[in-house]
Amino acid sequence: MPVVVQKEKVGCLVDQLNFAEKVRRSLRLIGEAYEEYGSRLVVANSLGKDSCVVWHLAKRVSPDIRGFIVTTRFKPRETVEFMKQEVARHPELGVFRNDEPIPDELHRTDPDRCCDILKVKPTRQAIKEMNVACWVTGLRCTEGRTRAEFQEVEERDKGLIKLNPILIWREREVWQYLAIHQVPVNPLYAKGYRSLGCAPCSRISAGGDERAGRWVGTSKCGGECGIHTRPLKLDYQI
Ligand code: SF4
Repeated sequence: MPVVVQKEKVGCLVDQLNFAEKVRRSLRLIGEAYEEYGSRLVVANSLGKDSCVVWHLAKRVSPDIRGFIVTTRFKPRETVEFMKQEVARHPELGVFRNDEPIPDELHRTDPDRCCDILKVKPTRQAIKEMNVACWVTGLRCTEGRTRAEFQEVEERDKGLIKLNPILIWREREVWQYLAIHQVPVNPLYAKGYRSLGCAPCSRISAGGDERAGRWVGTSKCGGECGIHTRPLKLDYQI
């Protein structure tokens, strides 16, 4: 994949590049990947602020770019409402959800397994059904301790490229972009949330770690649901 530089220390770019340079870099990353993968480039839209930026950037590259949303039975009411609005605005957003039975309180007793069933499985399903060769995420390296080592272009699963085009953006720059372009966001941000997930596993937090409010009180606190760390192709088993 001929996109920019893969091995550079992206951490340095967080402070070296200004906002406009970061926007141009992100557009270039998505544009070059779209040239290579065409309709097999698909945006993963979590309905969070970072996904809103990436989705908007992707639409600037081409209005034809598709996306998918993974939702769960535990999403907050506000997120479900926001999802419906987004899908009405963009019917090219596919929605994936796993409704298989799970034990009561699994999110508390074994959140890794809960996320694996409710989030990772439908992500695998989306990648399979949409025939994805390159998925695009809103992951950023300054979000928290678990996100510092990612690269802008990765191939964690053989044959499946992951593009993280806003990896070097700061939280402030995300909000700067959304304000400048008047992009609608999930109303939960107005209540103080900084990182959004399922209702039982998301709290309002403050401080340097944006993801500190996720899975509070469990071994997974401030961690990951698994879609960025678990295999997604795995012979397309779902
Ligand atoms: S965020 Fe919580 S409720 Fe949602 S899938 Fe993960 S553990 Fe389950």
